Amino acid sequence: MTTPFPKATIEGYPRVGANRELKRALESYWAGRIDAATFESAAHALRLETYARLKELGLSEDYAIPADVAYYDQVLETALTIGALGGESLDDEFRLARGTAQAAPLEMTKWFDTNYHYIVPEIADEQGFSPRPQRVIKLVDEARAAGHTVRPYLVGPVTLLALSKPAEAAQRQPLERLDEAVDSYIAVLAELHAQGVEWVQLAEPALVADLIVASDAELAEALRRAYGRILAAEQRPQVYLTTPYGALRQGLDVIDELRPEAVQVDLSVGTLNQEPGYLERVAELHTHLVAGLVDGRNVWAANLRDLRSKLEKLPAGTSVTTSVSLQHVPHTVEVETSLPVDVASWFSFANEKVQEVVALAAGPLESAAAYAKADRAVRTRAESARTHDRAVQERTAALPGGQVARTPEFAQRKEIQKDLGLPLLPTTTIGSFPQTKEIRAARAAHRAGTLDDAAYTQALRAEVASVIDLQERLGLDVLVHGEPERNDMVQYFAELLEGFVTTENGWVQSYGSRCTRPPIVVGDISRPAAMTVEWAEYAQSLSSKQVKGMLTGPVTILAWSFVRDDVPQSVSADQLGVALADEVRDLEEAGIDIIQIDEPALRELLPLREEDRKDYLDWAVRSFRLVALEAKPSTQIHTHLCYSEFGQIIEAVAALDADVTSIEAARSRMELLEDIDEKFHSEIGPGIYDIHSPRIPEVAEIAELIRAALKHVPAERLWVNPDCGLKTRGYAETESSLRNMVIAREEVLASLKVNAPA
Ligand code: GLN
Ligand code: ZN
Repeated sequence: MTTPFPKATIEGYPRVGANRELKRALESYWAGRIDAATFESAAHALRLETYARLKELGLSEDYAIPADVAYYDQVLETALTIGALGGESLDDEFRLARGTAQAAPLEMTKWFDTNYHYIVPEIADEQGFSPRPQRVIKLVDEARAAGHTVRPYLVGPVTLLALSKPAEAAQRQPLERLDEAVDSYIAVLAELHAQGVEWVQLAEPALVADLIVASDAELAEALRRAYGRILAAEQRPQVYLTTPYGALRQGLDVIDELRPEAVQVDLSVGTLNQEPGYLERVAELHTHLVAGLVDGRNVWAANLRDLRSKLEKLPAGTSVTTSVSLQHVPHTVEVETSLPVDVASWFSFANEKVQEVVALAAGPLESAAAYAKADRAVRTRAESARTHDRAVQERTAALPGGQVARTPEFAQRKEIQKDLGLPLLPTTTIGSFPQTKEIRAARAAHRAGTLDDAAYTQALRAEVASVIDLQERLGLDVLVHGEPERNDMVQYFAELLEGFVTTENGWVQSYGSRCTRPPIVVGDISRPAAMTVEWAEYAQSLSSKQVKGMLTGPVTILAWSFVRDDVPQSVSADQLGVALADEVRDLEEAGIDIIQIDEPALRELLPLREEDRKDYLDWAVRSFRLVALEAKPSTQIHTHLCYSEFGQIIEAVAALDADVTSIEAARSRMELLEDIDEKFHSEIGPGIYDIHSPRIPEVAEIAELIRAALKHVPAERLWVNPDCGLKTRGYAETESSLRNMVIAREEVLASLKVNAPA
């Protein structure tokens, strides 16, 4: 048992594959095109390929490569491994993650302040935490057979339970079950030990966040309890405890007492700025320190000299790693052949970051070329004209400071907007309709140059016309054009705005098999021309009902992009705010009366620490308000948000001052409406069916959810809509679901009329 901790490692690595192999395998398996054995062998090949690549990139020491693989999600797989959830087979795992025709899936929510979604385990009182180490053992064995000594990865017990929720009717909170969970971890670790594994990684990011379920002191105490026992176990691998996504507080002292064999800390520039003195404090730890210096969440080439000087302030022998898992960045810059060359040299994706870690650990003498390259990137980027646009800077400098407000206030606007003539409990959708095979094929052909602009536009118009026709047939009240022209709600705008670059293959996992390709903000942002008007205008010309204009808000554009690290985010947010305000004006001029500004990511960017939140919410709300600031009072401004634990941001959502707010609510069965208190005056559309699952909701079930919503929101303020956009669904299920939604609304409306006093 003497293998030392490797000098260079990473917290984690993208799992979907450089060519999204895992995505393809998953979707083929779910569609029944391949069987379980074929799926497993594809995933197996991908894992081995990944290990071989990482070794080639320089993670050649034993245990340098984390086996942080998962078919769907690492939280779900850890929960299955320690028996916090029941299920043995591949299909059990997918049933929990995706639901079935009979059963709803588990809830999904953002993993810390990232755009990755994990599956929220729901722990039942009778669930016994029986260890199932086979999954991890299998990973170790297959890697060994291919000549790799990998490091098993599990989400640690404190984080696993802090991120779980009690199953329906369960009496006990997950964290109250810590001792049972720890028994199971101890058993899994003993099994790994028996298999000759010398290092295991336990990730405990919950310790850096302000969570609702527990205070920092409670989490630190849970850490003491859990690891006191885990580390006291005799039969176990050495424990590598990791704390990505921010700075430890009380947990740091507890870790110093407990002394796991190695500890990772997040020393990214962002974290060090938020937590001055953190570097000096972690330098005092009495255990093997693994410095998370290379920022795992941005795409910028590291300033190696600067990082090296930080490393030199840490004890000799300190290892180097990334601040967080590289699962949040694309695989490699190498395949991006159409980026401007100067810009390409500024970037560093997962593979390049692995090389940075290795270079940093080796030192400037051994890796002179890497240091010279990094120096050049830092210099050319700071000097580039691409980064700075005087006109944009002057326009935002002329804006009023502090908070801005649309006039007149909501109550008066509501009166004016009665002229829209909408019925009680209006029905609408969130914007996108299914992206058909034909549309995708047309887009691909257009991109490849085999379909000309006119023919492409023609195909999209035909789709808009059919979406309008469908909505008219279904009897929806407020229509949408369906967004067929958008590959992605952020990328679409990024491609039309100055100041962004987009990648060809920069895929990042969002959840399960879903990946997004975040654009990159490289400089000051502006809007050269209208971006959405022709589509909204065309759709509106086809119907006498209102068509909603559809924009993505500043916060979401930033949240789903890779952002600059040379200016505060609020600078880019203001620039986006005024660019989108111009779009609102152009939509109004084109005769659009209802405009939705999507902000599904408002919650996602919320800082993990309480003390940083006000500042964030101030600039986030301001940027949204800038978009709507000059809108006519008669223009009904909608907004849409996803997945929110609204408790923490309800006031900010209200402060957006939208006229109508749609939110996701079906998966949590309207629970979140309990947070919609007096402070929230605008109209509201709590999603009444879950679009993430292929199942078609019954009329009775939807009607029941509408009635549940009516307990919290009066009918005059309630809208009826699905949970989110429909682009990931098929037409058949969409049509049936929306039909049921319209019928359910009629039923509820009828019963309201019956019950209303004459
Ligand atoms: N308008 C977008 C759509 O319908 C909103 C998507 C989202 O909230 N993620 O696709
Ligand atoms: Zn949504």
